[in-house]
Amino acid sequence: MLTRRGFRYRIYPTPEQETRLRQWEGALRVLWNLAHEQRLAYLRRHTKMPTAFDQINELTALRADVPWMADVPRNVSAQLLVDLDAAWQRCFFRLGRRPRWKKKGRDTINLTEPHSKGFRLTSTGVLFPKLGELRAVLHRPCVGVPKRCTIVREIDQWFVSILCEADLPEPVLRPEPVVAIDRGITHLLADSDGVLVPNPRRLELALKKLRRAQRVVSHRKKGSRRRERAKTRVARIHRKIRRQRTHVLHELSSRYAKSHGVVVVEDLNVKGMVKGGLGRHLAGAGWATFCSMLRYKLEATGGTLVEVPAHYSSQTCTACGIVDAASRSGEVFCCVACGHEAHADLNAAQVLLSRRNGGGAGRGGFPEVRGPAKRQLRVVKRGLPTGQGLGLLKSPGLQSG
Ligand SMILES: [Zn+2]
Repeated sequence: MLTRRGFRYRIYPTPEQETRLRQWEGALRVLWNLAHEQRLAYLRRHTKMPTAFDQINELTALRADVPWMADVPRNVSAQLLVDLDAAWQRCFFRLGRRPRWKKKGRDTINLTEPHSKGFRLTSTGVLFPKLGELRAVLHRPCVGVPKRCTIVREIDQWFVSILCEADLPEPVLRPEPVVAIDRGITHLLADSDGVLVPNPRRLELALKKLRRAQRVVSHRKKGSRRRERAKTRVARIHRKIRRQRTHVLHELSSRYAKSHGVVVVEDLNVKGMVKGGLGRHLAGAGWATFCSMLRYKLEATGGTLVEVPAHYSSQTCTACGIVDAASRSGEVFCCVACGHEAHADLNAAQVLLSRRNGGGAGRGGFPEVRGPAKRQLRVVKRGLPTGQGLGLLKSPGLQSG
């Protein structure tokens, strides 16, 4: 099994190296914007856009005219144009938004050496074209053959990420044990084993700090140095929050990938119900990140990630399958039909698990969701058991179900 994995290390450029790196960043930002403008001009004239290849060919003339552009390694400049092309392709296939202008202080610039021969890992750092050795903290070894090397800056810290290819043996499939995970309403996560993962308290504190720092920025005079300093402070807190968040997600996803063979989550492609405001910790992008982490960690060890429809998972009773919004109030789930009581988040996780098992007779949920959610809603309003509700009504004696 051919795997590609990135390994990220903190690097400590010397002051001279850092000055040069920042100059390169500036040059590449100009290059990106130039190439972007060229593409937009073609788009306005409704003619075919230049390809990355065309633009790389023009690079030679540009580098001959502009010395600070020529200072950036050619491969690195060329890769930026390839990245721009890839961004446009994603946009055309509706996989991403239209590429943007790169703005100073807002957008990051990747300095990528795309050829494995262009850089080298040493015992103390990374040899990068024109820069010599960048001292790095290699806190863990790379697995596989280094293929490309990217330098990025995060405010005042520099990192290098090495993409490695490795041909690992196919892992043994692990069909057991099975667990369903749902993002909680009162908690961060709930699983079908009955575990509730609380919201990270540290994150809560950092968010408070962020709001305070943002207020300071708004009080400073525009264009002043003190405002710039306050903005940097805000960016640092953002960075910290981002790291705390990914740390939590990594920790949780590895825990589940290690302890379980099959993990069931709600289907991301189906726009489910909007969860309560408290579930914001794992709302949107956070949940998608968590699922992709789970997926690659499970696949690497022979596990599987299963996605099931999530409609009304928080309102469905695991005992009798009745869907009713009245069953849930806050964190308590108490079925209006059968009186089944559980923690609301745990109940939802159980519902997801039963849906993976085919949602058999009355065990909460739909064997298969057909048609739009609206139609499901009509069933809900009539208060019928889901799945085979109509079938139940036709057979006398079962109506009390
Ligand atoms: Zn019930």
